[in-house]
Amino acid sequence: MLFSFLRSRRRRAIAERPFPSAWHDILRRSVKPWQWLDAAEAETCRRWLAVFLAEKRFEGCGGLAITDEVRLCIAGQAAIVTLGLGDEWFDSLKSLLVYPGDYLVPRTTPLAGGVELEWKEARVGETWSGGSMALSWPGVLDGGRLRDGPRSVVIHEFAHLVDALDGDIDGVPPLPVRDVAGWRERMSAARERFERALDEGRSTAFDDYAAESDVEFFAVASECFFQDPHRLARHDAELYALLQTAWRQDPKHRVPPRPSRDR
Ligand SMILES: [Zn+2]
Repeated sequence: MLFSFLRSRRRRAIAERPFPSAWHDILRRSVKPWQWLDAAEAETCRRWLAVFLAEKRFEGCGGLAITDEVRLCIAGQAAIVTLGLGDEWFDSLKSLLVYPGDYLVPRTTPLAGGVELEWKEARVGETWSGGSMALSWPGVLDGGRLRDGPRSVVIHEFAHLVDALDGDIDGVPPLPVRDVAGWRERMSAARERFERALDEGRSTAFDDYAAESDVEFFAVASECFFQDPHRLARHDAELYALLQTAWRQDPKHRVPPRPSRDR
């Protein structure tokens, strides 16, 4: 009780410190959606971001130097997606490991005759249960500068963190609605519509990695919800509304429509 009182007092003090003007420049340059926040949203994001940067450890891996641009490009994207979630700083997340490119994870696959095939899989991001998140810096920057269509590895990994807030990573984040079963059912129906579109070779709002599981469907659809909300709403207005409930915000109202690639 005392600890949480002291912690909120400390967070308030950090949030009230002057925000460096150099940080504004970096955010404008490397987190494009920052320009569409209204004054009240920008203020909420600035306060959130200051606390996040003060509390989390950033580690450069594979020779990558952690600069303000690296920290702000990650924290700036995260601040926008958590805008509707109030004072949620993800206490379970302790450190962010940032790599100079895709990083390789050793994998094994059992083969016939008791032999194992050893190989390495390239990844752009991952969240580990011990409190670490790994991110590839080019992936982070592409997402921040909207250079990767509706993709953003930061939004993807934060969607997994939000999903895990209720204790289960199951594609269902904590919801402000009573009818959680109903939300889950409508989400499954959206996944079925998405998979049917893939099977029939129709264009989809986001890529087929979403078909891996309910967990990945929530994360990949959430990337599109923030990065190109009009595209998502055009493809599946029902899914857009479900994500609006989950994230407690409506990015369609601030993000301008992008030139359509599929109409
Ligand atoms: Zn994922």
